[in-house]
Amino acid sequence: MRTSQFHLVTRKETPQDAEIISHQLMIRAGLIRKLGAGLYTWSPLGFRVLRKVEHIIRQEMDASGALEMLMPAVQPKELWQETGRIEDFGGQLLAMTDRAGRDYFFGPTHEEVITEFVRDEITSYKQLPINFYQIQTKFRDEIRPRFGVMRSREFIMKDAYSFHLSVESLDDTYRLMEQTYSNILTHMGLHFRCVLADSGAIGGSGSQEFHVLADSGEDAIMYSDTGDYAANIEKCEAVSLIAERAAPQQALKQVATPNQKTIDQVAEFLGIQQQQMVKTLLVDGVDGPVALVVRGDHQLSEVKAAHLPEVATPLRFLDEKEVQKLTGCDVGSIGVKDLNCPIIVDLTVAHMSDFVCGANQDNHHLTGVNWQRDADFQQQADIREAQAGDPSPDGQGVLKQARGIEVGHIFQLGDKYSKAMNAVVLNDKGQAQALQMGCYGMGVSRLVAAAIEQNHDDNGIIWPTALAPFQVAILPMNYQKSTQVKKAADELHQQLSDAGIEVILDDRKVRPGFMLSDFELLGIPHQVIIGDRSLDEGHVEYRYREKMDKQKVERAKIHDFLCQQISS
Ligand code: ATP
Ligand code: MG
Repeated sequence: MRTSQFHLVTRKETPQDAEIISHQLMIRAGLIRKLGAGLYTWSPLGFRVLRKVEHIIRQEMDASGALEMLMPAVQPKELWQETGRIEDFGGQLLAMTDRAGRDYFFGPTHEEVITEFVRDEITSYKQLPINFYQIQTKFRDEIRPRFGVMRSREFIMKDAYSFHLSVESLDDTYRLMEQTYSNILTHMGLHFRCVLADSGAIGGSGSQEFHVLADSGEDAIMYSDTGDYAANIEKCEAVSLIAERAAPQQALKQVATPNQKTIDQVAEFLGIQQQQMVKTLLVDGVDGPVALVVRGDHQLSEVKAAHLPEVATPLRFLDEKEVQKLTGCDVGSIGVKDLNCPIIVDLTVAHMSDFVCGANQDNHHLTGVNWQRDADFQQQADIREAQAGDPSPDGQGVLKQARGIEVGHIFQLGDKYSKAMNAVVLNDKGQAQALQMGCYGMGVSRLVAAAIEQNHDDNGIIWPTALAPFQVAILPMNYQKSTQVKKAADELHQQLSDAGIEVILDDRKVRPGFMLSDFELLGIPHQVIIGDRSLDEGHVEYRYREKMDKQKVERAKIHDFLCQQISS
């Protein structure tokens, strides 16, 4: 390929709305272009990378025995009524109506469509197990589309759905997909971690996420420093940090805390540690307000809280007026004594004694508070976020925290969808039985951004070899004027093309410095710089994008040298 016959448009300026580096670099390198909020066009250059991602996913999915197919992106609304998921997905669903007045959604995911396919196509256990997949465009009307294709509204997903007669068979395929996802990400040359995950709106029992590790990742993942335990912070078990509740030592006392509203302020004002305090948060319950109590230095896990049967979904905190009405005080002074609603405490809080909380009276707190003696809770549950330094829930070491970008999510759905949609098969005794189901998603377009987020420097992208749009860039200096440079560049281009290597020759009439920095930005792994001076000495220059060190290579040997570099 020659740049004169390709479409290469790079930009110096960083777009204003691009907060993270991958978004900035994707725009600057001309991989994508914004059409509207959360809508992007993939340029020919970007599309080459997207294709690589798809190709690797296809190879590994095919090798696992999964079967590729394609379902419509537009889905009849009735299907979603069968599973009752319209509410779960809420505003993310893009609805449309055809000329006959029939309602549709642009598919955000395909559990309903595949289950509809399977309930007619699969009638006997002899057709099982089976795993279908597709690579296709989804639409989710994300509240805050951001970071370019990392969280867009229209995006490309690989989604797979497996069907089974037994839970054991589902488990086998789930493990196979776990391995396949590891293979895919290893094949792409990415650093990643598989973690336990919350199942969210997709539902079902077990699920794991695959995260590409990067500091800008939206997700916090917790992992044991010595063992195998790893979980998304949303799912990570937070154990009690206190083994047993000590007997009360202090008398209950009300103290004035004028204008001290936050945990920080009160702890400093009273000269105590945040660990001696508790935070009382009021949320909607299924039957009136509910108080959730965590230790002063801990964070409530909104995901865990929303899963409590006593708590209404979606999780909503009472506003100032509602707090006043219930407690007679403002948010900064809520406490657990004489609180007129059910109290659910975190496991650590259940073991605290002589603690400090709000007095349910403005500008006042209580010290020396003790359970049973001064206040009661109705229930204890794991409702806080685990934090670095906590003991790992599996008893192995302590937890550390890292940031990750979720690129894949695998679920054991069980019979949730097959029951709702009546997808049954006849088992070997001729009885009808609901299908067991698994589903396995991977963010194809997000993977491109994640790869850049993990592989870049100040000057641009550093593509992992497997994802690079071109393996080799030939950068001739003065191609237009020097016949020997032109000849050497053309020859190498021909040789590499004949050898099946993806190569791009920059035959633009641009300044050498411009060309070199453009290709640093574009991140092509292997670059050959050809100029008159080095040719006169019988060599060309080779630079490896990752290290950026230049190396002289004899002109006659450059082809073999490159082949060796690429295959190593
Ligand atoms: P997230 O928590 O990031 O919103 P999700 O849990 O909603 O993801 P799934 O429903 O499991 O995602 O979808 C499968 C995969 O599709 C995700 O692992 C992710 O890689 C990708 N994906 C989901 N939403 C988007 C989006 N808005 N833009 C790009 N990729 C996405
Ligand atoms: Mg989502």
